[in-house]
Amino acid sequence: MITVENLTKEYAGFTAVDDVTFTARPGRVTGFLGPNGAGKSTTMRVMVGLTPATSGEVTVAGRRFADLPNPGREVGVLLDASAQHAGRTGREILAITAAIMGLPRTRVPEMLHRVSLTEDEADRRVRHYSLGMRQRLGIAAALLGDPQVLVLDEPANGLDPAGIRWMRDLLREYADQGGTVLLSSHLLHEIEVVADDLVVIGRGRIVAQGSKADLLAAAGTVVAADDRAALERALSTAGLASHPGTDGALRVEATTREVGLAAASAGIPLTRLADADGAGLEEMFLELTADTQRDDLTQSHSEGAAA
Ligand code: ADP
Repeated sequence: MITVENLTKEYAGFTAVDDVTFTARPGRVTGFLGPNGAGKSTTMRVMVGLTPATSGEVTVAGRRFADLPNPGREVGVLLDASAQHAGRTGREILAITAAIMGLPRTRVPEMLHRVSLTEDEADRRVRHYSLGMRQRLGIAAALLGDPQVLVLDEPANGLDPAGIRWMRDLLREYADQGGTVLLSSHLLHEIEVVADDLVVIGRGRIVAQGSKADLLAAAGTVVAADDRAALERALSTAGLASHPGTDGALRVEATTREVGLAAASAGIPLTRLADADGAGLEEMFLELTADTQRDDLTQSHSEGAAA
């Protein structure tokens, strides 16, 4: 399994990863979800020894990555599918990787087959690969040493719908056989279909984590009234915390009954009252994403103004 404990990573005063703690367990696919810039890649880079942590601890298969005697046999890593020597063929890249790990060359055709790269594609130079082909090659390299743990950063990028389906089935099978899979994505729906557990990160901090089933079923109520300010006051008088959703309605961590009674006792007519049903996760994720998009807009706006 993978354990991340109180991990913090700072870059010259900027905190990219802020006190992050989570575990990815064997037999489960853990989805690491967050908008661009949330700190997913940084966390994964620390995990596999590419970047030192500012503080905190990460272990893979019970040890720090640097202490694994033959890391490729313990953990398969795909962080950047394009970080390959572009002048080599896919087959050469796998053969070199196999040699470094002390594996028989017969693993190469096995893995090419596993990721559905044809003989012809395997003999082309990587510079001529599509991003989807690079992702397949990267998966083949990650699986080469038959590791128990997989760490994959946005592996679905560049794959067509059939490729995404293929990847999903492969990861499912791998976890069902007892493997630990951590995969990141900035798309909720992409990860929702394959993950058993979710860790949601925004601006370097964990904002939610748990089993997908629990997160999607997260209790709560969606409520709206024409006079939103009065509704907010009534809820707060009743001791119920609320926060605005992106659709103008309020999200309240209470049952529909509690919310209904609070509104009725303040004499407020409601235009909507419903169980949040998992909308909470989507809503939370949209808010995270909206924030980053606003930041981007502000940034490009001020850049435009400066120019
Ligand atoms: P994600 O993978 O979720 O898109 P990253 O981990 O790549 O996010 O980045 C998190 C934040 O850290 C971003 O704001 C990014 O700009 C910043 N960052 C990442 N790497 C560096 C670096 N080497 N130097 C300075 N800032 C960095």
